[in-house]
Amino acid sequence: MREPRFDVLFEPVQLGPVTARNRFFQVPHCNGMGHRDPTAHAWMRGVKAEGGWAVVCTEEVEIHPSSDVGGFVEGRLWDDADLPAHERLVGKVHEHRALAGIELVHSGMSSANLYGRMTPLGPSQLPVPGYEPVHARRMRAADVADLRRRHRRAVARALRAGYDLVYVYAAHGLTTIQHFLSRHTNDRADEYGGTLANRARLLREILEDTLDEADGRAAVACRLVVDELLGDSGIVRAETEELLGLVGELPDVWDLMVGFWEDDSVTSRFGEEAWTEQHLRGLKRLTSKPVVGVGRFTSPDTMVRLVRDGVLDLIGAARPSIADPFLPRKIEEGRFEEIRECIGCNVCVTGDWTAVPIRCTQNPSMGEEWRRGWHPERIRAKESDARVLVVGGGPSGLEAAHMLGKRGYEVVLAEAARELGGRVLREARLPGLAAWIRVVDYRKGQLARLPSVELALESEVTADEILAYGFEHVAIATGARWRADGVGRRSTSPLRLDGVEVLTPDDLTAGARPAAGARVALYDDDHDYTGGVLAELLAGEGFAVTLVTPAPRVSEWTVNTMEQHRIQRRLLERGVAIVVAHELLGASGSARIACTYTGREREVPCEALILVTARLPQDALAEEVERRAGEWGDAGLQSVRAIGDAWSPGTIAAAVWDGRRYAEELDGPSPGDAVPFRREVVQLA
Ligand code: ADP
Ligand code: SF4
Repeated sequence: MREPRFDVLFEPVQLGPVTARNRFFQVPHCNGMGHRDPTAHAWMRGVKAEGGWAVVCTEEVEIHPSSDVGGFVEGRLWDDADLPAHERLVGKVHEHRALAGIELVHSGMSSANLYGRMTPLGPSQLPVPGYEPVHARRMRAADVADLRRRHRRAVARALRAGYDLVYVYAAHGLTTIQHFLSRHTNDRADEYGGTLANRARLLREILEDTLDEADGRAAVACRLVVDELLGDSGIVRAETEELLGLVGELPDVWDLMVGFWEDDSVTSRFGEEAWTEQHLRGLKRLTSKPVVGVGRFTSPDTMVRLVRDGVLDLIGAARPSIADPFLPRKIEEGRFEEIRECIGCNVCVTGDWTAVPIRCTQNPSMGEEWRRGWHPERIRAKESDARVLVVGGGPSGLEAAHMLGKRGYEVVLAEAARELGGRVLREARLPGLAAWIRVVDYRKGQLARLPSVELALESEVTADEILAYGFEHVAIATGARWRADGVGRRSTSPLRLDGVEVLTPDDLTAGARPAAGARVALYDDDHDYTGGVLAELLAGEGFAVTLVTPAPRVSEWTVNTMEQHRIQRRLLERGVAIVVAHELLGASGSARIACTYTGREREVPCEALILVTARLPQDALAEEVERRAGEWGDAGLQSVRAIGDAWSPGTIAAAVWDGRRYAEELDGPSPGDAVPFRREVVQLA
């Protein structure tokens, strides 16, 4: 049963002509499916609606080919040909009584228009951001008229598709309307430049156009950046307050955000839950219209406080709704311990950055709702009375045991250590990663409620024991170990490493440290977060650390979690010496490295060398069981399989996903050579 203090979250909120049936608002978020995978996208949004979100929105949707975000897969509403995809999405959202919202976008000078090859347009004559050799062209009066007309037509189409709420988008640094608003990107001297009233002219015009076109048939939302965090060269809080005085009563709902996307979606390593509150507080009183905002809100108490304190009317969420599409329903029904809390890792964001369907560390069904028929809360019942042994209680074993238990199988989860969690248990102790323990906590909580799952802690099992137990199925989730020989992407054969103490991430997360006072060289040929966070750890403990990487930047892959800049900044601030574009050649009393361009060699004096290069799957147990199963004859063993990192080392998200896949596929038909998931193929013109 829910406690009455949470009732406030389930009050309806009037959004102009429509009513949100509670305060849970899934704000627009990218998903890497968009126009390419429309049915998969529609089902994903439908599951959110089923989970109780009163408003469920699309990602940004291009209004016209004159502004495309080519390279990224977002929504499109260029013309009527795009309507059926949107109608399907709206239909899935409406099935569960939620309001469907669409975020229309004109990316303007934030995008190079690589797909359509049309010249990007913006308030000023400037190159586009990033490194594309493309300039945006200063908009003339006719261009402004074109933009307004195209936006209006997109609004009309959105209404025909059945959307209940239409966005005017001026946020994240990603839209022409914001580019006009900001002194950072608007150097015009005409009636669209200079004073705030002038810079806000386009916003006002498009708001008025949209309200006129919607004509009371749909709510009009405005997503607005309240501070670009650029200091006086960009939009600042004082301007936003003035702006709300000018146009605060126009839209039906304000969606307020802070900074650029990497700020808005800051990871838990660099920003707390509700870090946005300091920027949002006090803005609501400047408008009579309801306000939604985000802050990776997963705590129902925080949500209540924000509403009670008059900071927000609606609890906005992207990531919390990805990690747990059923968050509102669970709060509504008082099932707090079942909430699958977002850990703030931004693996979801990597889908968008790499143009593949969204994935989530906590919710392995994300992006697989239609493609594989996975559901965040449900799984089909067992199809036999087989008993399953899961060996290893890291993220993969935990997820497999959890889902198999949900299916009703009798499961034993054997874990060698005293505590469940595997790598997550260790990594969550690293600087800034404490929230990651939620991956373990959620599953531990779920397992405790499953009567058919038995936990065996401090149980390091051998092949003999496995065979003697007589389980029908065995999943080996024993993880992976970091290599200590330097093999990785750059060097595919072992390096000679003499005269230095060699340590791996496994050693460090298990508590080992270089000798006191040792100078440390950390070689990162892995490029995800591990090398950077270990350098941060050791520097924080007083070691003199030199981070060497063949990549052009520290933790190169974390551009995809939008953390790279923050990681490098933090390491520089902590005094870590950074040597990029160098590979490790070997060690003899110091580390020998070479420039990846010139081959020029140099020494890095060190007593300890940390190798963050590659991992090896710990799958020997699986192979031994398989090999010896024959000797045991008909002991009943039907299958043995390594899963997660023991199958192939990867992200925690990948290990969880593989655990889920194992549980989904047990006793199911083998796909053979068929494509193992559904997809949509374009219809030929
Ligand atoms: P993954 O990421 O694939 O889930 P982890 O490395 O996080 O893998 O977890 C592997 C877990 O397996 C660890 O908790 C480890 O203690 C446990 N483990 C390894 N070998 C055995 C074994 N023979 N018996 C039981 N548990 C084991
Ligand atoms: Fe949260 Fe990570 Fe899932 Fe994204 S991938 S929703 S940040 S848990």
